[in-house]
Amino acid sequence: MTKTRSTCPYCGVGCGVLLSSEGQGGLTVKGDPEHPANRGRLCSKGSALAQTVGLEGRLLAPRIGGRAAGWDEALDHVADRFARTIARHGPDSVAFYASGQMLTEDYYVANKFMKGFLGTANIDTNSRLCMASTVAGHKRAFGTDTVPGTYDDLDEADLVVLVGSNLAWCHPILHRRVHDAKAKRGTKIVVVDPRVTATCDGADLHLPLRIGSDVALFNRLLAEIDHAGALDAGYLRQVEGAEATLAAARAASAEPTGLDAELIEQFCRLWIGHERVVTVFSQGVNQSSAGTDKVNAILNCHIATGRIGRPGMGPFSVTGQPNAMGGREVGGLANMLAAHMDLDNLAHRAAVGAFWDAPRLAKRPGLKAVEMFRAVADGRIKALWIMHTNPAVTLPEADAVRDAIASCDFTIVSDITAETDTARLADVLLPASAWAEKDGTVTNSDRTISRQRAALPPPGEARPDWWHITQVARRMGWRAAFDYQSPAEIFREHAALSGIAGGFGLDFDISGLADLNDEGYAAMEPTRWPVAARQGGRFFADGRSFRPGGRVAMVPVEWRAPEARRAPRFPFRLNTGRIRDQWHTMTRSGRAPRLSSHLAEPFVEIHPDDATRLGIAPDRLVELTSPTGTAILRATVTARVQPGTLFAPIHWTGETAPTGRIDALVAACVDPVSGQPESKAAVCAARPFEA
Ligand code: SF4
Repeated sequence: MTKTRSTCPYCGVGCGVLLSSEGQGGLTVKGDPEHPANRGRLCSKGSALAQTVGLEGRLLAPRIGGRAAGWDEALDHVADRFARTIARHGPDSVAFYASGQMLTEDYYVANKFMKGFLGTANIDTNSRLCMASTVAGHKRAFGTDTVPGTYDDLDEADLVVLVGSNLAWCHPILHRRVHDAKAKRGTKIVVVDPRVTATCDGADLHLPLRIGSDVALFNRLLAEIDHAGALDAGYLRQVEGAEATLAAARAASAEPTGLDAELIEQFCRLWIGHERVVTVFSQGVNQSSAGTDKVNAILNCHIATGRIGRPGMGPFSVTGQPNAMGGREVGGLANMLAAHMDLDNLAHRAAVGAFWDAPRLAKRPGLKAVEMFRAVADGRIKALWIMHTNPAVTLPEADAVRDAIASCDFTIVSDITAETDTARLADVLLPASAWAEKDGTVTNSDRTISRQRAALPPPGEARPDWWHITQVARRMGWRAAFDYQSPAEIFREHAALSGIAGGFGLDFDISGLADLNDEGYAAMEPTRWPVAARQGGRFFADGRSFRPGGRVAMVPVEWRAPEARRAPRFPFRLNTGRIRDQWHTMTRSGRAPRLSSHLAEPFVEIHPDDATRLGIAPDRLVELTSPTGTAILRATVTARVQPGTLFAPIHWTGETAPTGRIDALVAACVDPVSGQPESKAAVCAARPFEA
């Protein structure tokens, strides 16, 4: 039996797995004891991976207009339509919507194709829905999108604060590491979340703040740090913006949090009293119309106390997807270039253009995810390539997005599944290799680059994503630039390009890996970046950053309410999120019977007072209506949500009741800095469903 070391394809923890191929498509999956992220452990999703590799529902051959086609015909057709669309309407009439499920090599080629050769930055990714606010917050504070710490800090902290993060369900292996630290060294755990989640079990303190009020809480913490004389004066001498930020915090009110003053005081005492504090934040922070400000409100507290970049302390963003970080590193967002270089920096553009020998490098940022699908709806985007994601279900205002894709002149979908809501709308379907069949790298939430390796042959006509893109690019005339024969070749080019970023003094430099030969790439161990003159450790302990002038910055922030406003017709605030055993729209996790038995159908959590008032009985169907859509869900009556608020999971789709197309209810309000949608503060009405 052959053993293959790879990584789990679900969350941003990036756990290592050992795959044993049984022949005839079978697989066993175990945790890799040597991977630094998980040290052999797997959560429920990871340990059920073997149940998800069957071929049921797989897309096995290209299709054009619903009929089977050969690869040559399909690729010629795509290249021809892209070329004709650009010739007639210009490069900004085409777009690419990518995914944090893609490997770094796939992402690199997609970004090079769009920004370097088609001449448009209209490439964005579902990572926009996941961590764009963190990227923007990091850039404001550090000049680059740099996670300061590592997972080891969770083992070494005396206090872990979890903000907008149901770590127990969404990043379970990290949650276990935090509880191991609690058992070993007595680490205190604080949860900041409007809901009582599984993460509250075993926590020392829970702050059930009002939805969207995190900035008010962390401004109060910053004011209390100042009041208690806990500022790090030495560190602050290196910091820009400290006075203005402290003044804004002193002037701010904690009233928007709705929390008891005593609870806030308790939190502040804990935070100030423990030097080794890690503040972990996730989608409850990012998926907000004030997401970037929330991120900076958290960073401000760590910067003010110098508790950053040292063992056991620092702000820590945990990403949703396996390769959200890798996508950021290659520049797979519409406002980035490559290797953390900027599209609006002339020197960066000139260097990347020369490196790629690019005929027409994009000159300005492209359309971010929500804007991109609006441009599809109004006809500005006429050709759209969607890879490994299901925006007809997952973007806010999902019904409008579904209609927009259906109306697009030309849509290509590269995926492993033939029957997603998005794939059904495609003009051309291209069959992709799946996890356990493809080869490349991913970067997890603590900057560790790990290999995903193939243990199974791709079935039918399935091919890797990078191959789809390079074949189209070559047909459009760029044979030499896209003449890759393997992911190893792409990785070496990506690593070499990052050396240019290093030359500009930026953080993402893995040029030390640019000369890996094929054998070295095949055997590559998990490696935390940077990998150059400076090796991967922690950042910013000395107050030096990548901003012009080289200093870390504090950013004054003010609380503002979620953008969607409650009204008598839509009195509830709707929070959305993941459940423990499902992933995205369940195209993979839904195949594992064990995972489906945890929570078998879509539901909405409603407070007992609201349920009684509205005549909603437990386990009965409830109709939710918002200004943008409806959903029908099973009622879970529970005090885990606050009165006036609801929670529903994001995973389900479906045409018959219960139907969980929950993003149909979410308005496309976005953070003005990051463009990330506010997926956790929609407004809606609820009533008993009558068929
Ligand atoms: Fe996979 Fe995340 Fe679970 Fe690890 S914690 S096994 S990466 S889903």
